[in-house]
Amino acid sequence: ARHLPLPPLQPGDWLGLLGGGQLGRMFCMAAQSLGFRVCVLDPGADSPAGAVADRHLCAGYEDPQALAELGRLCRAVTTEFENVPASALDLLAAGMVVSPAGASVAVAQDRIVEKAFVRDCGTPVAPYAEIRSAADLRAADPGLFPGILKAARLGYDGKGQARVADVHEALAAFDRFGGVPCVLERRLDLAMEVSVVVARGFDGLQLAYPVSENVHRDGILALSTVPARVSQDVAWRATDAALKIAQAMDYVGVLCVEFFVLSDGSLVVNEMAPRPHNSGHYSIDACVSSQFEQQARVMAGLPLGSVRQLAPAVMINLLGDIWFEDAQARTPREPDWAAVLRHPQAKLHLYGKTEARRGRKMGHVTVLGDSLDEAMSVAIQIERQLG
Ligand code: ADP
Ligand code: MG
Repeated sequence: ARHLPLPPLQPGDWLGLLGGGQLGRMFCMAAQSLGFRVCVLDPGADSPAGAVADRHLCAGYEDPQALAELGRLCRAVTTEFENVPASALDLLAAGMVVSPAGASVAVAQDRIVEKAFVRDCGTPVAPYAEIRSAADLRAADPGLFPGILKAARLGYDGKGQARVADVHEALAAFDRFGGVPCVLERRLDLAMEVSVVVARGFDGLQLAYPVSENVHRDGILALSTVPARVSQDVAWRATDAALKIAQAMDYVGVLCVEFFVLSDGSLVVNEMAPRPHNSGHYSIDACVSSQFEQQARVMAGLPLGSVRQLAPAVMINLLGDIWFEDAQARTPREPDWAAVLRHPQAKLHLYGKTEARRGRKMGHVTVLGDSLDEAMSVAIQIERQLG
């Protein structure tokens, strides 16, 4: 049975959040703006979300005492990170509204389950094989090479992945991963990557944000351009597939579906995230309601807000690399934010992380424009200024 947040939560009520990263931080801010209080459960002492939450339970995700306290305080709980144990969500679901459901998170948590699920929804995925042993690799279709071996669980930002030219490299990578279950995917020739963020309420009503065009560098999102520069037909098919997937999961909350666009215009689902997504950060500044506001609305049993985009947007991720003068630099220094903010269309978001490391997501800038071309030209200037 579904626990509907009825009657809707009221200002002053508590929302619970598992995970203390930047997604949680932006969720806290949106929820607080609607008048709610947020309690964050995260084991890190100085987490980005813990720093702005009304309360921070500094404990592990499966800590029984912390989960009990969360249950006492909150009528609704969510997660900002898909590697939270689905069992912790199931445990909490006995006493309160949990979105997304443990079952939805479990699908997105495991690439093997996820790929089979997406395929069963009628949307193609890259040709792949399930790899549970070295024998599976030796028996794999040679047509999957050159490929990418991806650990089935716990990967993010390109971690837990290896590009493999042939079966020998694949065997070596499988060994390096410690023989954990993997998928071997064929490496596709990508014309573009896009994503669709969907917000879906307990009542089954769902809305899709405009399609986002994403550029990755070294497996990490670098730039999102919205709306994506694709044909109406591609945009419609991506949106339709994302909504179908959300519906098939009976999903509650915010879900992102990432796609590859191939050179013939066909679409392939790459993966999904059972939470707000980096490629949807532009919605904070460019849409009527942000993806984080939707997450809070869903949890509180409130109607969804409008996903309408008010201005073309380019989002630039700020990785820790720009804190370092050059490739040799040992000690970080603060980038020149004044130079960024000199562009009046640029909105700066820093996540309050105390230590800058290369490859670490430290913040983002959203550039709004009268046109996408204008937003892009300012974004390019900012990227150059930040080095
Ligand atoms: P993560 O969970 O780290 O985001 P992804 O599976 O999304 O992992 O892979 C990260 C990036 O690597 C993708 O956004 C894409 O740029 C590239 N990539 C992944 N799989 C493929 C593939 N089968 N063919 C070509 N590029 C790929
Ligand atoms: Mg990805």
